[in-house]
Amino acid sequence: MHYNYYYDVAAMILMAVLIIFFYEKNIIRTKLSSFFEIMLWGTFISNTLDFVRAVILSDGSRFGIMLSYALVGLALISVNMIPVLYYIYSLRSISKARHLTWPERLGAIIPFSLVAVLIISSPWTGLIYRLSDNGELSYGVLGAFLYVHWIIYLVHIIRSMVKKWDKIEPTSKYAVLGGSIVTIVACAVTYFIPQLLLVNFAAAIAVLLQYIAMESVDDYTNDKLEVLNENAFVDKVDVLIETKSEFEIFAIKLDGIAYLRTVLGRKNINNLLKSISNNLEVFSQGMGLFYLGASRFAIIAEKDPGNWELLAELIEKYFRDTVEYGNITISIDAIMTILPTELLANIKKADDVIGLIDAATAEARKTSSEELYVASDDTLADTRRKEEILHILKGAVREQHFEVYYQPIYSVKKQRYVSAEALVRLKDDRLGYISPEEFIPIAERNGLILEIGDFVFRTVCKCIMDNKICERGIEFIEVNLSVVQCMQDNLHEQLVSIMDEYRLPYHYINLEITESTATMSKDTLKGNMDELIKRGINFALDDYGTGFSNMMRIVDYPFHAVKLDKSLLWSAADKPKAKHALEYSIQMIKAMELDVICEGVETFAQADMLEKMGCDYFQGYYFSKPVPVNDFLTQLARDQAMTLLSEEDV
Ligand code: C2E
Ligand code: CA
Ligand code: CA
Repeated sequence: MHYNYYYDVAAMILMAVLIIFFYEKNIIRTKLSSFFEIMLWGTFISNTLDFVRAVILSDGSRFGIMLSYALVGLALISVNMIPVLYYIYSLRSISKARHLTWPERLGAIIPFSLVAVLIISSPWTGLIYRLSDNGELSYGVLGAFLYVHWIIYLVHIIRSMVKKWDKIEPTSKYAVLGGSIVTIVACAVTYFIPQLLLVNFAAAIAVLLQYIAMESVDDYTNDKLEVLNENAFVDKVDVLIETKSEFEIFAIKLDGIAYLRTVLGRKNINNLLKSISNNLEVFSQGMGLFYLGASRFAIIAEKDPGNWELLAELIEKYFRDTVEYGNITISIDAIMTILPTELLANIKKADDVIGLIDAATAEARKTSSEELYVASDDTLADTRRKEEILHILKGAVREQHFEVYYQPIYSVKKQRYVSAEALVRLKDDRLGYISPEEFIPIAERNGLILEIGDFVFRTVCKCIMDNKICERGIEFIEVNLSVVQCMQDNLHEQLVSIMDEYRLPYHYINLEITESTATMSKDTLKGNMDELIKRGINFALDDYGTGFSNMMRIVDYPFHAVKLDKSLLWSAADKPKAKHALEYSIQMIKAMELDVICEGVETFAQADMLEKMGCDYFQGYYFSKPVPVNDFLTQLARDQAMTLLSEEDV
């Protein structure tokens, strides 16, 4: 038979050009692009082998029959590997997953294994093809399977793509679809006109389309800063971890950018970040620079990490007066940390590296030392603990494995407990009690706080009703709301419906929100507050005296009470200024006709001082620690008895 191998030649040329482009472009080595590289070479080699096969078969008698069989078999197997590579690449690029699922893997292996076995056994069985003595090729009864095999993969690709149709970028969608259809048509045509050898050419076109899609759908750069982004970082680090390469990471966090954004405006800040990232790129001298979002940059050094001290010095000098605004220059605080090779060797996945960078940054911020901060095993232990707590939290949320403790609040005027704060507790078999100070922020970052908040609120409602708490001198229970809960538009509906479920009179609940909540989502928060206040639920501003001056919060929002933070009370003991702050805060709040509650009252002396300053309510270990509901009830009974006694005294 005379084969038309021009298509094979064209395909080879096309692939060669693509390979050159690929290396010229210096495309970032991620798992996906590394696989693309394999697919490029795989397709090129199969094209070449197919061409060789066509040449051999044009005059098969020149080679011995065994050699011809071997060459044809090899060419057929390698050509039939193209759809497998194409299948894996397409699935990975459309699902954006870093690994195929098991069914997808089996889908990749099974058809190919079958066709390979059939090809290899053909010299004896003749099922796929047979060579006559003069090297002429004829297809066997299963010859069509060679084309069916391609079609199985392509149909598979189209099917999984249709399933995720809306989630795929248009460019990669049409590239995959176009490439698959062209190749299916080529398979059909070549089946009927075998001497055309169109399939390889079609496959090369399909790869070309993928290349174009890969170039234009760029998941790996931050468009504004024109630098590699977090996706690229994660992929890159994953490759380094998997290949067990040695590497180090130098991380830079710019402090105060969020604040500068409010002063200078978004556009100026974007320009500023752009010029910072350009400069960092220059400083990092060809090591990869990545922008991880939230004003965090990372530099990855493979092999020889070079001299970090020098880099740190350069960067520090640069940041000393970076921002020129009008005729002032502002310097930016850059927190620099290093994750050394020894530490990274213990890491299993890239996402953990980002957690590690954040932990190291937080530690570096705490230490005031001028030295460059090098993350240690402690940093790792810290992130591991956070991960473990997250894991525990997920289990606890699933099994509703939290407890709610109550800490009574004492009224100076009534000389008894008039309310209590509900505080969530989490106990783990291994870690023991985990402080809410530790797990609430983790739960907030992962959205679990919504379910925890819901649980606490339900528990409190049920507890008030079951124990008739509000008939025992308690006027209401204080429940803490997280920032995340307050960002829900329908928070008020959720709370009201729970209270209705337990038939709880609304005024039995008081809600505490912190100052950080009051800074965010102003409209949502106000909407929620108004709806709830309308029904008789009061609000207290929590943690007053921490953070920035929050006087305006009291003025702006309809609070009923203000809770002074324990740190304010505690520093009043040895700092005269703090004592004034405490005293005048109490006076100011009372002048606004709001209630003042002070938490953290641990000693008689503190209670005495606060009373003299005019504080209305006390909460603290001097009266009681937060306790389980039964202990709380016992305390209430004792408190009531004491009140009765003292009334008799009068
Ligand atoms: P917070 O709202 O400021 O709660 C008061 C914290 O001060 C409680 O810590 C309480 O045990 C502690 N405290 C009260 N009096 C004293 C004292 O005299 N001495 C000392 N050393 N500590 C005292 P806790 O229970 O560890 O809670 C810590 C924080 O966790 C709370 O601070 C609150 O922000 C958060 N939290 C606790 N429960 C919940 C909850 O159900 N939901 C939400 N969103 N946050 C909660
Ligand atoms: Ca509170
Ligand atoms: Ca507090």
